[in-house]
Amino acid sequence: MSTNTDGHIRLTSHPNRYSAARYPIKWGAATARERGPVIGPVTSPSDRNAIGAYGGSYSLYRALAVSSGALNPLIRPDLTNTTPAVDMGPFPQWSEPNRIVSLDPWGHRVTLDFPGEVAEGLDIRPTIAITKARLTIPEFQARDQKWITTDGEIVRASGDIAVTKAAVDPVWFLPGIASRFQIGEDKLRRTLFEQTGGIYPELVTRPDLSVFLPPIGGITLYIFGDPAAISDRKRTLTCRVHDECNGSDVFGSDICTCRPYLVHGIAECVKEAQRGGAGLIVYNRKEGRALGEVTKFLVYNARKRQEGGDQAATYFERTECVAGVQDARFQQLMPDVLHWLGITRIDRFVSMSNLKYDAIIESGIEIVERVPILAELVPPDAQVELEAKKAAGYYVPDREQSKTDLKNVVGRKLDEF
Ligand SMILES: [Zn+2]
Repeated sequence: MSTNTDGHIRLTSHPNRYSAARYPIKWGAATARERGPVIGPVTSPSDRNAIGAYGGSYSLYRALAVSSGALNPLIRPDLTNTTPAVDMGPFPQWSEPNRIVSLDPWGHRVTLDFPGEVAEGLDIRPTIAITKARLTIPEFQARDQKWITTDGEIVRASGDIAVTKAAVDPVWFLPGIASRFQIGEDKLRRTLFEQTGGIYPELVTRPDLSVFLPPIGGITLYIFGDPAAISDRKRTLTCRVHDECNGSDVFGSDICTCRPYLVHGIAECVKEAQRGGAGLIVYNRKEGRALGEVTKFLVYNARKRQEGGDQAATYFERTECVAGVQDARFQQLMPDVLHWLGITRIDRFVSMSNLKYDAIIESGIEIVERVPILAELVPPDAQVELEAKKAAGYYVPDREQSKTDLKNVVGRKLDEF
């Protein structure tokens, strides 16, 4: 559907109206030119070869900006000087069948691979951006003993940490997503259409369009040390895959181990980079196990108010009562970004999650060692979550130590805050 400047709405989703796309996408092709650009702007509907719009969930804010008159809907981005700060790929994984189905591996190279088309005015936008930054982590400065040491290059004299970071928007190749979940593509398209309240009719009316730009959060990568070391099997890689937890990550809420484990992961990444390898934090926007923060806070209340208090024994049960499911993160899509980075082996995996570990191993990446969170970093109220997860299959180096009676691991009550 598109809105013309005269205000008429023209439906482009009718099955009889589509003709072969001017810019076909051959997903998994070996070169960017052969694969073709993913074109999802609303500025030129006839060029579009993807369902949805650029920017994921932010396309709705764009709509507000346009509707309020703050943004000209026909404006095209000026991409001068926006190319990646470091090279990334191409790697063999980019063209292996069904290896990457939830992001566009060529998404950062739009202006490099299609300069002529961009110059001619075709509105192709990057779905990945790579830049550089410095991090200041208060925990490293606050701790008594030196957690990380200064080397002048990765950790500066000021304590700042030099990183390369990348933002990745989701781009779904629908046949590949369906096959990853072992369901039919028709069923996937129909369910996506229905569960979004019919917001994308082309999911069901345009079977010729295989690529969907879903309105969900993306991924941020933080790379420590030489980015080229990530895919180099002769060098070592430390990696933490972290799912967003705003309450802990940003605000230091003590009901879970998220920020402490993230900071622990960053420290391990820094040390790996200082040894000549690379460190990698993958930060996925999947708040509250991808059930959202409202659900998460409802679950907190249900946990804290239940009879017997907030116990590890009923940790997962309470989530399921509220959300109908324990977890909606679907780790089977998570390894895609690791394959995008050309990873074939993770030497130190800073996570205790069996779900993440299994998904990575099953996708063909080797994991040499698993690194649990340091016990001293776990806040007292977060013992409930940690013990429940350990009992459910979380990695524990010494199983003997984990024979805890889950009923005895009880957290704070609501009136104790
Ligand atoms: Zn958390």
